[in-house]
Amino acid sequence: MKAAIYQGVREIRVEDVPEPKPGPGEVKVKVKYCGICGSDLHEYQHGLFPESPFGHEACGEIVEVGSGVKGHHVGDRVIPLNKGAYAQYMVCPQERLLKIPPSMSWEQAATVEPLSVAAYSIEKADLKPGVTALITGAGPVGLMTILGLKAVGVGTIYVTEVSEMRRKKAEEMGATRTCNPLNARVSSWIKELTSGRGVDIAFESVGMEASLKDCLTSVRTQGKVIVQGIFTDRVPIHMLGFVTRETIMMGTNSANPPLAMSWIEKKGVKPEMMVTKTIPLEKISEGFEILTRKIKEEIKILVEP
Ligand SMILES: [Zn+2]
Repeated sequence: MKAAIYQGVREIRVEDVPEPKPGPGEVKVKVKYCGICGSDLHEYQHGLFPESPFGHEACGEIVEVGSGVKGHHVGDRVIPLNKGAYAQYMVCPQERLLKIPPSMSWEQAATVEPLSVAAYSIEKADLKPGVTALITGAGPVGLMTILGLKAVGVGTIYVTEVSEMRRKKAEEMGATRTCNPLNARVSSWIKELTSGRGVDIAFESVGMEASLKDCLTSVRTQGKVIVQGIFTDRVPIHMLGFVTRETIMMGTNSANPPLAMSWIEKKGVKPEMMVTKTIPLEKISEGFEILTRKIKEEIKILVEP
C-alpha cells in the first residue's frame, strides 16, 4: 500500500509499504480521508514531537477485525483516533474507534477531530449564558471554536485574523465582527464594541505573542483567556495588567470527540465548512507546502489515500 513517510523537516515521501495487520483487539481501516492538522504542520516545519507516524484526523471503513474485537464489523464506518493515517490502510485499537452515524457525511467525519479540540476548550471554559467572546486567529482551531461557541449559545463572537480569506470564512461560520489585527489595535476595537468593558472570554488560537497579548488586553476584569495555539517561541507577558485585572488564563491541549459528534448530530454544526481542498495522497507534500506559506490560501485540506 501507499503511505506518506516523514523523512525530516519539510520532507515527506510517499512510499510502498506493507499493509498493517490488525493484532488482537485491533481493526484494520481503509482510510477515506485524513485532514492535515496544525500539529502535523508544526512537525513538518520543526521536527516530529514523538517518534510516531503522523496523520490523525482520519475516517474510513473497517476491512478486517483482529481477534477479540467486539461490536465492530467489516464495513462499519469509523473514526480511528490513532496516528499513522496518511496511508491507504491503518490499524486502530477497538477502544479508540468512534462509530460514524448514518446521517454523518465523510467530510463531517474527517473534521470531527479538529472540532473536538474546540469542544474540549469550550467545555473547560465553563461559560455562562450571554457571554461575549474574542477568538484570535481564524485557522482551523479558531473556526471550530466559532462553531462550538454558537452551539453552546454564545451569540457575540469577535474574531481577529490577518488573512482576508479566513476572515470571510469566519463571518460565514458565524463571527459577529472580524478585524485584521495588523490594521487595528485589537484591545481598542474590543473596548469600542463592548462599551469599554472588554470581552468575558478570549480564545488564543494562533500560538504567537501578538495574539496572546490581544487576548490578555481585551478581556474584562476577572475575564478568562483560554490558550489553545501551539507556541514555538517564548512570550514575555506584562504581568502587572494580568494581576491587577485578575485575569484567569488556562492552557488546553486535549479533545472531546463525543461532544463534537453530538454538536454535529443534534445542533446541526457543520465543521466540514472549513474544508477548502481535497488532494490525493501522492500530492501530500504540496498540501503541506500550501498550508505553511505565509499567505494562507486554504484552511483545511483533506488527503484522500
Ligand atoms: Zn488535529
